[in-house]
Amino acid sequence: MCQSYRKTCLCGRQTSEIFFGKYILDEKAIAEVYCPECSRDVDRGENNLVWDNGWVLELDMQAVRTRAAMMEISPEDVTAQWVFDEGYATWVGITPDDFQTRERERSEIQKIAKTDLKEYMQAMKEWGLRREKRFVAEGWRKAKSRA
Ligand SMILES: [Zn+2]
Repeated sequence: MCQSYRKTCLCGRQTSEIFFGKYILDEKAIAEVYCPECSRDVDRGENNLVWDNGWVLELDMQAVRTRAAMMEISPEDVTAQWVFDEGYATWVGITPDDFQTRERERSEIQKIAKTDLKEYMQAMKEWGLRREKRFVAEGWRKAKSRA
């Protein structure tokens, strides 16, 4: 059983990576993922949806409720937002496609390592801080809960 799961959004333009904390939920709990392009037609205010900067994670609440006891919450009280914030079904990184952008950015910095190790260490440190600030400024759900 895999703890993370890649899912293409409804319009097929983007891929998210979802993490299942404590192995309680799995891909059966994920109904749909919408990127900012395809989330425009999604109704707000449903308790099976998590909104995050235009992205939407839609859970299959039927599947989620069957595991509610394992998450130590009653089936009536469980919402998609709660599941996301508790980390039972959430993005692998701070953002849905963090796994892609992180690798791309990191490989850029790693080029420096070949010429100057000290500068590379510094660049990595600054990159980490810059990323964190950027995520908070952009208003990602996971960045906000850490701040
Ligand atoms: Zn899409």
